[in-house]
Amino acid sequence: MEAIALGKAKASAYEVPTDAPESDGTLEWNSTTLVLVEIEAGGKSGIGYSYADKATQVLIHDVLAGAIEGRDAMDIPGVWWAMAAAVRNMGRRGVASMAISAVDNALWDLKAKLLDVPLVKLLGSVREAIPVYGSGGFTSYSDAQLREQLGGWADDGIAMVKMKVGREPQRDPARAEAARKAIGDGVQLFVDANGAYARKQALRMARVFAQEYEVRWFEEPVSSDDLDGLRMLRDRAPAGMDITAGEYGYDAGYFRRMLAAGAVDVLQADATRCGGITGYLGAAALCDAFHVPLSAHCAPALHMHPACATRASRHIEYFHDHVRIERMLFDGVPEPVGGRLHPDLSRPGAGVTFKHADAEKYQVS
Ligand SMILES: [Mg+2]
Repeated sequence: MEAIALGKAKASAYEVPTDAPESDGTLEWNSTTLVLVEIEAGGKSGIGYSYADKATQVLIHDVLAGAIEGRDAMDIPGVWWAMAAAVRNMGRRGVASMAISAVDNALWDLKAKLLDVPLVKLLGSVREAIPVYGSGGFTSYSDAQLREQLGGWADDGIAMVKMKVGREPQRDPARAEAARKAIGDGVQLFVDANGAYARKQALRMARVFAQEYEVRWFEEPVSSDDLDGLRMLRDRAPAGMDITAGEYGYDAGYFRRMLAAGAVDVLQADATRCGGITGYLGAAALCDAFHVPLSAHCAPALHMHPACATRASRHIEYFHDHVRIERMLFDGVPEPVGGRLHPDLSRPGAGVTFKHADAEKYQVS
Protein backbone atom coordinates (compact mmCIF):
# COMPACT_ATOMS: atom_id res chain seq x y z
CA MET A 1 0.00 0.00 0.00
CA GLU A 2 1.33 3.42 -0.95
CA ALA A 3 1.65 6.15 1.66
CA ILE A 4 -1.19 8.69 1.80
CA ALA A 5 0.69 11.93 2.44
CA LEU A 6 -0.73 14.37 4.96
CA GLY A 7 -1.24 17.91 3.70
CA LYS A 8 -0.45 20.98 5.77
CA ALA A 9 -2.60 21.10 8.94
CA LYS A 10 -4.73 24.26 9.08
CA ALA A 11 -5.56 25.65 12.53
CA SER A 12 -8.06 28.35 13.51
CA ALA A 13 -9.56 29.58 16.80
CA TYR A 14 -13.10 30.72 17.71
CA GLU A 15 -14.01 32.51 20.94
CA VAL A 16 -17.69 32.05 21.79
CA PRO A 17 -19.26 34.14 24.58
CA THR A 18 -21.12 32.11 27.22
CA ASP A 19 -24.92 32.54 27.46
CA ALA A 20 -24.53 33.76 31.06
CA PRO A 21 -21.56 34.47 33.36
CA GLU A 22 -20.07 31.14 34.50
CA SER A 23 -17.95 30.17 37.49
CA ASP A 24 -16.95 27.15 39.54
CA GLY A 25 -15.11 26.78 42.86
CA THR A 26 -11.82 28.21 41.55
CA LEU A 27 -12.39 29.93 38.14
CA GLU A 28 -14.72 32.47 36.47
CA TRP A 29 -15.20 32.88 32.69
CA ASN A 30 -17.37 34.63 30.10
CA SER A 31 -16.25 32.88 26.92
CA THR A 32 -14.91 29.58 25.65
CA THR A 33 -12.37 29.16 22.82
CA LEU A 34 -12.43 26.26 20.39
CA VAL A 35 -9.27 25.53 18.38
CA LEU A 36 -10.04 23.71 15.13
CA VAL A 37 -7.64 21.63 13.01
CA GLU A 38 -8.32 20.59 9.42
CA ILE A 39 -5.98 18.17 7.60
CA GLU A 40 -6.30 16.78 4.08
CA ALA A 41 -4.93 13.55 2.64
CA GLY A 42 -5.96 11.26 -0.20
CA GLY A 43 -8.80 13.58 -1.22
CA LYS A 44 -10.42 13.50 2.25
CA SER A 45 -10.45 16.11 5.01
CA GLY A 46 -10.32 15.33 8.72
CA ILE A 47 -11.28 17.73 11.50
CA GLY A 48 -10.38 17.76 15.15
CA TYR A 49 -10.47 20.30 17.94
CA SER A 50 -9.61 21.26 21.48
CA TYR A 51 -11.12 23.72 23.93
CA ALA A 52 -7.98 25.72 24.58
CA ASP A 53 -6.35 29.12 24.50
CA LYS A 54 -5.70 30.63 21.06
CA ALA A 55 -1.96 30.15 21.76
CA THR A 56 -2.74 26.53 20.89
CA GLN A 57 -3.61 27.62 17.34
CA VAL A 58 -0.27 29.44 17.02
CA LEU A 59 1.64 26.36 18.19
CA ILE A 60 -0.12 24.10 15.69
CA HIS A 61 0.49 26.56 12.85
CA ASP A 62 4.12 27.38 13.71
CA VAL A 63 5.43 24.02 14.97
CA LEU A 64 3.20 20.96 14.52
CA ALA A 65 2.01 21.55 10.94
CA GLY A 66 5.56 21.43 9.60
CA ALA A 67 6.51 18.45 11.76
CA ILE A 68 3.83 16.19 10.30
CA GLU A 69 3.33 17.37 6.70
CA GLY A 70 3.98 14.59 4.19
CA ARG A 71 3.83 11.76 6.74
CA ASP A 72 1.52 8.80 6.07
CA ALA A 73 -2.04 9.53 7.23
CA MET A 74 -2.49 5.85 8.11
CA ASP A 75 0.36 5.92 10.66
CA ILE A 76 -1.20 7.87 13.52
CA PRO A 77 1.29 6.64 16.18
CA GLY A 78 4.24 7.75 14.04
CA VAL A 79 2.66 11.15 13.42
CA TRP A 80 1.83 11.49 17.14
CA TRP A 81 5.42 10.83 18.22
CA ALA A 82 6.73 13.26 15.60
CA MET A 83 4.56 15.93 17.28
CA ALA A 84 5.78 14.93 20.75
CA ALA A 85 9.40 15.22 19.53
CA ALA A 86 8.71 18.66 18.03
CA VAL A 87 7.59 20.12 21.38
CA ARG A 88 10.29 18.47 23.49
CA ASN A 89 12.09 21.63 24.55
CA MET A 90 8.96 23.63 25.39
CA GLY A 91 7.41 20.85 27.50
CA ARG A 92 4.63 18.56 26.37
CA ARG A 93 2.02 19.37 29.03
CA GLY A 94 -0.44 22.25 28.84
CA VAL A 95 -0.74 24.16 25.55
CA ALA A 96 1.52 21.75 23.64
CA SER A 97 -0.56 18.74 24.64
CA MET A 98 -3.79 20.53 23.71
CA ALA A 99 -2.25 21.30 20.30
CA ILE A 100 -1.20 17.65 19.83
CA SER A 101 -4.71 16.61 20.94
CA ALA A 102 -6.48 18.77 18.35
CA VAL A 103 -4.26 17.40 15.55
CA ASP A 104 -4.55 13.80 16.77
CA ASN A 105 -8.36 14.07 16.82
CA ALA A 106 -8.27 15.31 13.21
CA LEU A 107 -5.98 12.41 12.25
CA TRP A 108 -8.46 9.83 13.60
CA ASP A 109 -11.37 11.47 11.77
CA LEU A 110 -9.28 11.58 8.59
CA LYS A 111 -8.15 7.94 8.78
CA ALA A 112 -11.70 6.71 9.34
CA LYS A 113 -12.84 8.76 6.32
CA LEU A 114 -10.00 7.36 4.19
CA LEU A 115 -11.23 3.87 5.10
CA ASP A 116 -14.87 5.00 4.72
CA VAL A 117 -15.88 3.71 8.15
CA PRO A 118 -17.35 5.45 11.21
CA LEU A 119 -14.62 6.22 13.76
CA VAL A 120 -16.05 3.78 16.32
CA LYS A 121 -15.57 0.95 13.80
CA LEU A 122 -11.96 1.98 13.10
CA LEU A 123 -11.31 1.93 16.87
CA GLY A 124 -13.43 -1.21 17.37
CA SER A 125 -16.60 -0.84 19.41
CA VAL A 126 -17.45 -2.44 22.76
CA ARG A 127 -20.93 -0.87 23.08
CA GLU A 128 -23.45 0.77 20.78
CA ALA A 129 -24.16 3.78 23.00
CA ILE A 130 -22.68 5.58 26.02
CA PRO A 131 -24.59 7.34 28.84
CA VAL A 132 -24.12 11.06 29.43
CA TYR A 133 -24.43 13.10 32.59
CA GLY A 134 -25.69 16.69 32.39
CA SER A 135 -23.03 19.12 33.65
CA GLY A 136 -23.32 22.79 34.54
CA GLY A 137 -24.94 24.16 37.69
CA PHE A 138 -22.39 26.96 37.83
CA THR A 139 -21.75 28.76 41.13
CA SER A 140 -22.65 31.99 39.28
CA TYR A 141 -26.21 30.70 38.70
CA SER A 142 -29.15 31.75 40.85
CA ASP A 143 -31.00 28.90 42.52
CA ALA A 144 -33.73 29.37 39.89
CA GLN A 145 -31.20 28.94 37.03
CA LEU A 146 -29.73 25.91 38.80
CA ARG A 147 -33.13 24.26 39.21
CA GLU A 148 -34.14 24.99 35.62
CA GLN A 149 -30.94 23.58 34.07
CA LEU A 150 -30.62 20.42 36.17
CA GLY A 151 -34.37 19.78 36.18
CA GLY A 152 -34.39 20.19 32.38
CA TRP A 153 -31.81 17.44 31.93
CA ALA A 154 -33.78 15.17 34.27
CA ASP A 155 -36.94 15.87 32.25
CA ASP A 156 -35.01 14.92 29.07
CA GLY A 157 -34.28 11.46 30.48
CA ILE A 158 -30.67 12.09 31.54
CA ALA A 159 -30.10 9.95 34.65
CA MET A 160 -27.20 11.86 36.22
CA VAL A 161 -26.53 15.61 36.62
CA LYS A 162 -23.61 17.59 38.03
CA MET A 163 -23.37 20.98 39.70
CA LYS A 164 -20.42 23.15 40.73
CA VAL A 165 -19.70 23.76 44.42
CA GLY A 166 -16.97 25.35 46.53
CA ARG A 167 -17.08 29.08 45.71
CA GLU A 168 -19.24 29.94 48.77
CA PRO A 169 -19.08 26.76 50.88
CA GLN A 170 -21.69 28.01 53.34
CA ARG A 171 -24.25 28.11 50.49
CA ASP A 172 -23.44 24.67 49.08
CA PRO A 173 -25.90 22.63 51.21
CA ALA A 174 -28.83 24.89 50.25
CA ARG A 175 -27.80 24.78 46.57
CA ALA A 176 -27.55 20.99 46.67
CA GLU A 177 -30.98 20.85 48.29
CA ALA A 178 -32.42 23.04 45.50
CA ALA A 179 -30.84 20.76 42.90
CA ARG A 180 -32.11 17.58 44.57
CA LYS A 181 -35.65 18.97 44.71
CA ALA A 182 -35.50 19.99 41.02
CA ILE A 183 -34.38 16.56 39.77
CA GLY A 184 -36.44 14.32 42.08
CA ASP A 185 -35.33 11.06 43.68
CA GLY A 186 -34.67 9.01 40.56
CA VAL A 187 -31.73 11.02 39.20
CA GLN A 188 -28.14 10.82 40.51
CA LEU A 189 -26.66 14.10 41.77
CA PHE A 190 -22.94 14.80 41.24
CA VAL A 191 -20.90 17.71 42.64
CA ASP A 192 -17.59 19.19 41.41
CA ALA A 193 -15.55 21.45 43.72
CA ASN A 194 -12.72 22.04 41.22
CA GLY A 195 -10.25 21.72 44.08
CA ALA A 196 -11.79 24.53 46.16
CA TYR A 197 -12.08 22.81 49.55
CA ALA A 198 -9.42 22.05 52.17
CA ARG A 199 -9.03 18.37 53.12
CA LYS A 200 -11.11 18.17 56.30
CA GLN A 201 -13.63 20.69 54.98
CA ALA A 202 -14.09 18.40 51.98
CA LEU A 203 -14.53 15.37 54.23
CA ARG A 204 -17.24 17.16 56.20
CA MET A 205 -18.94 18.25 52.96
CA ALA A 206 -18.76 14.68 51.62
CA ARG A 207 -20.83 13.50 54.59
CA VAL A 208 -23.36 16.33 54.26
CA PHE A 209 -23.72 15.84 50.49
CA ALA A 210 -24.09 12.07 50.80
CA GLN A 211 -26.39 11.91 53.80
CA GLU A 212 -28.66 14.87 53.08
CA TYR A 213 -28.79 14.97 49.27
CA GLU A 214 -27.64 11.51 48.15
CA VAL A 215 -24.69 12.86 46.18
CA ARG A 216 -22.97 9.94 44.42
CA TRP A 217 -19.96 11.64 42.81
CA PHE A 218 -17.59 14.17 44.44
CA GLU A 219 -15.17 15.52 41.84
CA GLU A 220 -11.93 17.27 42.81
CA PRO A 221 -12.96 17.72 46.46
CA VAL A 222 -9.40 19.02 46.97
CA SER A 223 -6.76 20.03 44.43
CA SER A 224 -5.98 17.34 41.87
CA ASP A 225 -2.33 17.91 42.73
CA ASP A 226 -3.03 16.69 46.30
CA LEU A 227 -3.00 12.95 45.66
CA ASP A 228 -2.69 12.17 49.39
CA GLY A 229 -5.74 14.33 50.09
CA LEU A 230 -7.75 12.64 47.35
CA ARG A 231 -6.72 9.24 48.72
CA MET A 232 -7.80 10.23 52.25
CA LEU A 233 -11.20 11.30 50.91
CA ARG A 234 -11.54 8.16 48.81
CA ASP A 235 -10.90 6.02 51.90
CA ARG A 236 -13.15 8.00 54.27
CA ALA A 237 -16.03 9.32 52.14
CA PRO A 238 -19.39 7.55 52.68
CA ALA A 239 -20.01 4.29 50.81
CA GLY A 240 -21.64 4.90 47.46
CA MET A 241 -19.82 8.21 46.84
CA ASP A 242 -17.15 8.18 44.11
CA ILE A 243 -14.11 10.46 44.46
CA THR A 244 -13.03 11.53 40.97
CA ALA A 245 -10.36 13.60 39.18
CA GLY A 246 -8.14 13.56 36.11
CA GLU A 247 -9.35 16.39 33.85
CA TYR A 248 -5.93 18.12 33.93
CA GLY A 249 -4.10 15.00 32.81
CA TYR A 250 -1.89 15.81 29.82
CA ASP A 251 0.06 12.58 29.58
CA ALA A 252 0.01 8.91 30.55
CA GLY A 253 2.40 9.49 33.43
CA TYR A 254 -0.10 11.82 35.13
CA PHE A 255 -2.84 9.21 34.94
CA ARG A 256 -0.48 6.46 36.13
CA ARG A 257 0.57 8.49 39.18
CA MET A 258 -3.05 9.31 40.08
CA LEU A 259 -4.12 5.68 39.73
CA ALA A 260 -1.06 4.28 41.53
CA ALA A 261 -1.74 6.65 44.46
CA GLY A 262 -5.22 5.13 44.80
CA ALA A 263 -6.52 8.70 44.54
CA VAL A 264 -9.74 8.15 42.56
CA ASP A 265 -12.70 5.79 42.33
CA VAL A 266 -13.27 6.95 38.73
CA LEU A 267 -10.54 8.52 36.55
CA GLN A 268 -11.45 11.36 34.22
CA ALA A 269 -9.63 12.01 30.94
CA ASP A 270 -10.16 14.63 28.26
CA ALA A 271 -9.23 13.87 24.64
CA THR A 272 -8.90 17.60 23.95
CA ARG A 273 -6.02 17.74 26.45
CA CYS A 274 -4.44 14.32 27.03
CA GLY A 275 -2.97 13.75 23.57
CA GLY A 276 -6.23 13.33 21.68
CA ILE A 277 -8.04 10.08 21.07
CA THR A 278 -4.62 8.36 21.12
CA GLY A 279 -4.08 9.62 24.67
CA TYR A 280 -7.62 8.71 25.70
CA LEU A 281 -7.10 5.12 24.55
CA GLY A 282 -3.94 5.02 26.68
CA ALA A 283 -5.85 6.32 29.71
CA ALA A 284 -8.46 3.61 29.17
CA ALA A 285 -5.75 0.92 29.10
CA LEU A 286 -4.32 2.25 32.38
CA CYS A 287 -7.82 2.17 33.89
CA ASP A 288 -8.16 -1.48 32.88
CA ALA A 289 -4.83 -2.25 34.54
CA PHE A 290 -5.89 -0.54 37.80
CA HIS A 291 -9.52 -1.77 37.72
CA VAL A 292 -10.85 1.79 37.82
CA PRO A 293 -13.59 3.08 35.49
CA LEU A 294 -13.02 6.05 33.16
CA SER A 295 -15.28 9.03 32.51
CA ALA A 296 -14.83 11.34 29.51
CA HIS A 297 -14.45 15.00 30.50
CA CYS A 298 -16.49 17.47 28.39
CA ALA A 299 -16.53 17.75 24.52
CA PRO A 300 -19.33 15.15 24.19
CA ALA A 301 -19.44 14.95 20.37
CA LEU A 302 -15.70 14.26 20.30
CA HIS A 303 -15.72 11.61 23.05
CA MET A 304 -18.68 9.57 21.81
CA HIS A 305 -16.71 7.31 19.44
CA PRO A 306 -13.72 6.56 21.72
CA ALA A 307 -16.04 6.08 24.72
CA CYS A 308 -17.99 3.46 22.76
CA ALA A 309 -14.68 1.77 21.86
CA THR A 310 -13.14 1.45 25.36
CA ARG A 311 -14.40 -0.97 27.97
CA ALA A 312 -13.33 1.25 30.89
CA SER A 313 -15.50 4.21 29.78
CA ARG A 314 -18.53 4.63 32.04
CA HIS A 315 -20.04 7.90 30.77
CA ILE A 316 -19.44 11.24 29.07
CA GLU A 317 -19.76 14.67 30.66
CA TYR A 318 -22.51 16.53 28.75
CA PHE A 319 -21.08 19.96 29.62
CA HIS A 320 -23.43 22.88 29.03
CA ASP A 321 -20.82 25.17 27.37
CA HIS A 322 -19.56 22.53 24.97
CA VAL A 323 -22.99 21.16 24.11
CA ARG A 324 -23.99 24.70 23.15
CA ILE A 325 -20.83 25.39 21.11
CA GLU A 326 -20.91 22.02 19.35
CA ARG A 327 -24.52 22.67 18.30
CA MET A 328 -23.62 26.19 17.11
CA LEU A 329 -20.47 25.34 15.15
CA PHE A 330 -20.93 21.77 13.87
CA ASP A 331 -23.45 19.80 11.81
CA GLY A 332 -24.10 16.17 12.71
CA VAL A 333 -23.74 16.62 16.48
CA PRO A 334 -25.48 13.76 18.31
CA GLU A 335 -28.35 14.35 20.75
CA PRO A 336 -28.86 11.98 23.68
CA VAL A 337 -31.67 9.45 23.31
CA GLY A 338 -32.79 7.94 26.59
CA GLY A 339 -29.80 9.63 28.23
CA ARG A 340 -27.28 7.99 25.89
CA LEU A 341 -25.30 9.06 22.80
CA HIS A 342 -25.35 6.68 19.83
CA PRO A 343 -22.68 7.05 17.12
CA ASP A 344 -24.30 7.40 13.69
CA LEU A 345 -22.93 4.37 11.83
CA SER A 346 -24.06 5.78 8.47
CA ARG A 347 -21.49 8.61 8.65
CA PRO A 348 -17.74 8.04 8.07
CA GLY A 349 -15.24 9.43 10.57
CA ALA A 350 -16.39 11.25 13.68
CA GLY A 351 -19.57 12.23 11.83
CA VAL A 352 -19.47 16.00 12.30
CA THR A 353 -18.72 18.86 9.91
CA PHE A 354 -17.65 22.39 10.82
CA LYS A 355 -20.01 25.26 9.90
CA HIS A 356 -17.43 27.79 8.71
CA ALA A 357 -19.98 30.45 7.76
CA ASP A 358 -21.68 30.32 11.16
CA ALA A 359 -18.33 30.32 12.99
CA GLU A 360 -16.73 33.22 11.12
CA LYS A 361 -17.96 35.92 13.47
CA TYR A 362 -16.27 34.20 16.43
CA GLN A 363 -12.89 33.72 14.76
CA VAL A 364 -9.98 35.20 16.73
CA SER A 365 -6.99 33.63 14.94
MG1 LIG B 1 -14.41 19.11 36.76
